Amino acid sequence: MSSDAERTAEPTGSTDGTGEADSDGPAGGGDPVDGDAGGRTTDPVLRVEGLEKRFGGIVAVDGATFEVERGSITGLIGPNGAGKSTTFNCITGVHRPDGGTVVFDGDDITGGSPERIANEGLVRTFQIARELPEMTVLENVMLGPKGQIGESIWRSVAPIARGAVITQEAELRERAWETLEFFEIDHLAEEYAGTLSGGQRKLLELARALSTDPEILLLDEPMAGVNPSLERKLLDRIHDLREEGYSFLLVEHDMDVIMEHCEHVVVMHQGEVLAEGTPEAIQSNEAVIEAYLGGEV
Ligand code: ADP
Ligand code: MG
Repeated sequence: MSSDAERTAEPTGSTDGTGEADSDGPAGGGDPVDGDAGGRTTDPVLRVEGLEKRFGGIVAVDGATFEVERGSITGLIGPNGAGKSTTFNCITGVHRPDGGTVVFDGDDITGGSPERIANEGLVRTFQIARELPEMTVLENVMLGPKGQIGESIWRSVAPIARGAVITQEAELRERAWETLEFFEIDHLAEEYAGTLSGGQRKLLELARALSTDPEILLLDEPMAGVNPSLERKLLDRIHDLREEGYSFLLVEHDMDVIMEHCEHVVVMHQGEVLAEGTPEAIQSNEAVIEAYLGGEV
């Protein structure tokens, strides 16, 4: 694996030292490409610093550092094996990192359990959707992504007396319906989740993630196996949610999707952050092009 020296050898003059609070909107332009992650965001919802994860002799993540601006759609790309999924797993508590820190909303959540991290508002979807096939679509959404009715759903509600449990159940149901309507899969509410198409499962996966009222969603290839019309719908929903203030970190292979929908792109290669910047800047970045063309894609 390459050393830190390689990363720090990148141009440093591009780091935004002006303190301009000008990171909203993809049309902003002029953002630095290779600046270190500290210089870009004005209000990071997520900060990953020096993240490391090894599997035996394999260094899957090798000191990755980047931030996700609150309310942004940030892309995480890189050739196969770059460490994207492992990074997701370390952020969300599926794996305990061997080094580095993960800071969410100002709190160090490094090494926390997936349940705790999800409860705090950081929720992910998986590359392979994980719906519960023997339950209906509605039931799946009522359960949320953790397979249980977590307190997270009600974390904005004061603790309620036992008598109110029925109300809670009704509210939960109501909310699940709204979520299904939002994703336009309410007509499938009573179907078993196992009977859905691949694309519908992806929508359900997102609906489940959303049902826990997260602040940031980490989406691992949400568009994989989704037909163009469902993909459009999924992307529209992601934009709607972003308008409402949700933040997204998106792993996606389809470069057109990344370029069109992300305002900031982080490129991983061999476990490290190779470059980051606007889609336009990333597209013409020599190191990125080389990593994709010369790499083990
Ligand atoms: P990406 O999602 O960018 O394709 P991954 O994070 O899945 O990359 O994988 C990064 C590297 O770590 C690869 O070499 C992969 O084989 C290895 N890896 C990932 N998960 C495991 C695991 N559970 N055990 C052993 N090696 C793993
Ligand atoms: Mg992956």
